[in-house]
Amino acid sequence: MQRLSALFPSMKRIVILGTGGTISGLAGQAGDNVGYEAGRVAVDDLVAGVPAQPDSRLETEQIAQIDSRDMSFDIWRRLAQRVAHHLARADVAGIVITHGTDTLEETAYFLHRVFAPSRPVVLTAAMRPATSLAADGPQNLLDALHLAAMPEARGVLVCMAGQVHAGAEVRKIHPYRLDAFDSGDAGPLGYMEEGALRRLRDWPAGTPRGVAGLERTDWPCVDIVMNHVGADGRIVDALLASGTRGFVAACTGNGTLSSSLESALLRAQEAGIAVLRAGRVARGSLIDGSASRLPSAGALTPVQARVELLLRLL
Ligand code: ASP
Repeated sequence: MQRLSALFPSMKRIVILGTGGTISGLAGQAGDNVGYEAGRVAVDDLVAGVPAQPDSRLETEQIAQIDSRDMSFDIWRRLAQRVAHHLARADVAGIVITHGTDTLEETAYFLHRVFAPSRPVVLTAAMRPATSLAADGPQNLLDALHLAAMPEARGVLVCMAGQVHAGAEVRKIHPYRLDAFDSGDAGPLGYMEEGALRRLRDWPAGTPRGVAGLERTDWPCVDIVMNHVGADGRIVDALLASGTRGFVAACTGNGTLSSSLESALLRAQEAGIAVLRAGRVARGSLIDGSASRLPSAGALTPVQARVELLLRLL
């Protein structure tokens, strides 16, 4: 077996932060790719499972051990603190985060907006549990380690099924296939091929918001309300009564809302509640020109727009 030091010759360290997910999931039978429990295998053991021996240049830290459907503000706060800590270290080349696929795009966008880092922060995951006959986790993790070790790499990246996506654009598009992610109209940033990146476009860029305010424990409630046939304002009023501080409207078409839902959101906005319109359609960006008095989130998906609003309100 090859030593990891041979695979990753840089003297710098890679920190692997474990949060759980299917990549660390266990099923009762090797043939079962859906009836498993996520978040069971420790991040140390995931790293030991890539085809190499443990190496002192890899550091692991278990941040959480959850199914990512249960990702929480508490875990985001802790994750952001640890990412900030490790990015401040001169001896760290990059960070890999193992995560569940279900909310991975939200964590990726959150980290992109907070850090827009000049070093790589690579999220990786798996669609099949660690016990699967043909588990995808070990290859995804190995690819992510290669990416995090590249001296030229930067930004929040997602490495999955041989594809690399920018954290600002990635979204889950399939509940079962191994290549369950894409980057919308932008397309993937590149492909991992035997440890090398075939890059198609530039590394992600952005202005980091920074970690100020993330230490607060009272993160505001921001809720998503969807336009659909028969949508009305009742849900807005009910959520306002329960303490919502911001709304994202998941709009039909080019940012449209039923008259009744739009009126309720306008009333909320006039009362000082933050509102953003995002598109519920799978591709594209809202095009300016709509007469709506509710601001547009442009190309952001509803869940990305929710992160945006949350960070604004913190
Ligand atoms: N429910 C799992 C999770 O998000 C799915 C996965 O990781 O693929 O943790």
